[in-house]
Amino acid sequence: MWRRRWLRAMLVVSVFASSLPVVAQPPSAQTGAKAASPARREAAPLLGGQRVIDLTYPFNQSTVYWPTEKGFQLVRGPAGVTDKGYYYAANRFIAAEHGGTHLDAPIHFFEGRQTVDQIPLERLVGEAVVVDVTEACAQDRDYEIGVDDLRRWEMRHGRQLVEVIVLLRTGHGRHWNDRSQYLGTDKTGPDAVNDLHFPGLSPMAARWLVEHRAIHAIGIDTPSIDYGQSQHFQSHVTLFEHNVPAFENVANLELLPETGFSVVALPMKIGGGSGAPLRIIALTAQ
Ligand SMILES: [Zn+2]
Repeated sequence: MWRRRWLRAMLVVSVFASSLPVVAQPPSAQTGAKAASPARREAAPLLGGQRVIDLTYPFNQSTVYWPTEKGFQLVRGPAGVTDKGYYYAANRFIAAEHGGTHLDAPIHFFEGRQTVDQIPLERLVGEAVVVDVTEACAQDRDYEIGVDDLRRWEMRHGRQLVEVIVLLRTGHGRHWNDRSQYLGTDKTGPDAVNDLHFPGLSPMAARWLVEHRAIHAIGIDTPSIDYGQSQHFQSHVTLFEHNVPAFENVANLELLPETGFSVVALPMKIGGGSGAPLRIIALTAQ
């Protein structure tokens, strides 16, 4: 059923791609995350009967990058009417692979695993679910999402986390526009890494997912799939050993239902890349 609905949606995308209106940026992308309101959902454009929700932050001067990286730089090129009468504008950008809404390829933390261009599209496009841990993370900004949280989702929905993209909703995205709140520190450089505070997936839960379940990919609304205080990034290591890619700094998760939607997560196809800027959207019937 999902597959059929999905194929129809993709057909619409391919036929009308050139004439599609620009996907509206939900207001939360500018103002930080707030509870989804019916009005916001109304604002999402329709595509083949489904609503399109942009899960991507814009890349600009204030985009949050890892403290060891420079931010996104747009180098302005020519912009104006040429002597032949047409308008022309072209810029350059300089950016680390890992910053803003982006994909981590398995090779990021495991030698010999897939680079960005080697990840099969089947992992990046398809049915997705939201595991909501907003309440626990509101109590503890260093919260590690555990096996119990994942099992609780399974009990509530009566199914296992198999062959889906799992999006972890911590609620931390509401801090996006305040860099020091979002990262837990104002500092930059290698020392700042010790002062990071945000929720993530526990290494035990990562191991449980790869050993007892079979997910296509995982995403989170924080800077990293491991929590801020992680020293050994074991969730990255475990997931990537099994070629499960991760999406980080995913926007607008609060606008999604827990089930009944699909995700299209297409990174820039950097040959040999360990990560890449990601354009990720959700298609939801609700
Ligand atoms: Zn990354």
